[in-house]
Amino acid sequence: MYARIHIGNARPFVVYSLLKRFLEHEGHAVTLVINVTDVNDKIYDAAAPLDMTSADLAAQMTAHYKNDTDALGLGRPDAEPLASDTIEPIVALIADLIERGHAYAVDGDVYFRVRSDPDYGSLSRRAVDEMNQGEDVEGSDRKEDPLDFALWKAHKEGEDTVWFAPWGRGRPGWHIECSAMAEELLGVGFEIHGGGNDLVFPHHENEAAQTRMARDAELAQIWMHNGMLQFGEEKMAKSVGNVAGLHEVIDEFGRNALIMLLVGAHYRQPMAFDDMRMMEALARVARVRDAARGLVDGPSPPEMRPLRDAFFAALADDFNTAAALGALFEWINERHKRRDEPVGRADLVEMLSVLGLQNLAEHGSEAGAEEQELLEEREAARAAGNYAAADRLRDELRARGWEVRDGPDGPELVRIEQ
Ligand SMILES: [Zn+2]
Repeated sequence: MYARIHIGNARPFVVYSLLKRFLEHEGHAVTLVINVTDVNDKIYDAAAPLDMTSADLAAQMTAHYKNDTDALGLGRPDAEPLASDTIEPIVALIADLIERGHAYAVDGDVYFRVRSDPDYGSLSRRAVDEMNQGEDVEGSDRKEDPLDFALWKAHKEGEDTVWFAPWGRGRPGWHIECSAMAEELLGVGFEIHGGGNDLVFPHHENEAAQTRMARDAELAQIWMHNGMLQFGEEKMAKSVGNVAGLHEVIDEFGRNALIMLLVGAHYRQPMAFDDMRMMEALARVARVRDAARGLVDGPSPPEMRPLRDAFFAALADDFNTAAALGALFEWINERHKRRDEPVGRADLVEMLSVLGLQNLAEHGSEAGAEEQELLEEREAARAAGNYAAADRLRDELRARGWEVRDGPDGPELVRIEQ
């Protein structure tokens, strides 16, 4: 972490948090691990001009990351390991690779011997000779083969963190931390490894190779990759200038609309992100809220059951949230045809829960008088241009479990799902 989380990196957080909800709904026990990289070149580079230590910058950005993703209201992953807390297992894993002949130390660096893995390239389906680790310049004189990648980097001038290893002082390369952390927390051969499809090569290919060669086993059974968010013509990556921060998007549109947008496309597809699409998502949120008004407690009409079943069948088919959402809106259409009879909310709440949006249909989703008062104070502060006070009041509301959302009739309070 060397900067605030942007909306593109919020997509995997949302996709895998919701996948966990769905798998739990289907009766599976799920452990969700999302790691935090707090040691790498970009952190050193970003810290220097800020006159901060890299450790302080990483800690500050990790704290922001937790706050910003908390505002999604999807809960925290079960574990969020830090690279800097995993050095011992990383060093042990590198030592195993060296001992087995799959890695070699040179001048304090350690490199993975790519051609010693006969299955290298199987994940990204690339031929070995067509690959480029993006590390050609650095270490090119020390590598046996340009394809080899760094497991450990010798300490360099200007780097303010350092750890000790049998082959010298330095710090881990980027790929090895994931193999080590995953094995520590989940064991080798766990079910699903996720991530953005920009990570397939080299990152995930290298993770898979490290574990395969050290343990004679595959790291994960299934690799699941989400598509990128596209902002205009360019994919959202931190290197691109046109970055929307997650906190900015949630402040402007609310977490309900953001989640509604993200579940509106199949996770594997690239997805366009712009204000117009956010407005459409807001309208969809309003449609759900509207349909939920006037529902009664209890089971939904049995004739509407096939739509609920279609929703879960779509999720069971490669987690197709877009098709599931289609079924949910058909359910809502059916509900509107039954304006004059009592319709039970159970099916709608069950569907929305898996999407992290059950706050749209639950009882008690009306805020109390105190919260309404805080909201009014916040609007007054905003109108007076006192944005610091407005932000404080928004945070106060958030701490009480309410999010401020701009609705068609002005701002309203929406329950945050914990
Ligand atoms: Zn990783």
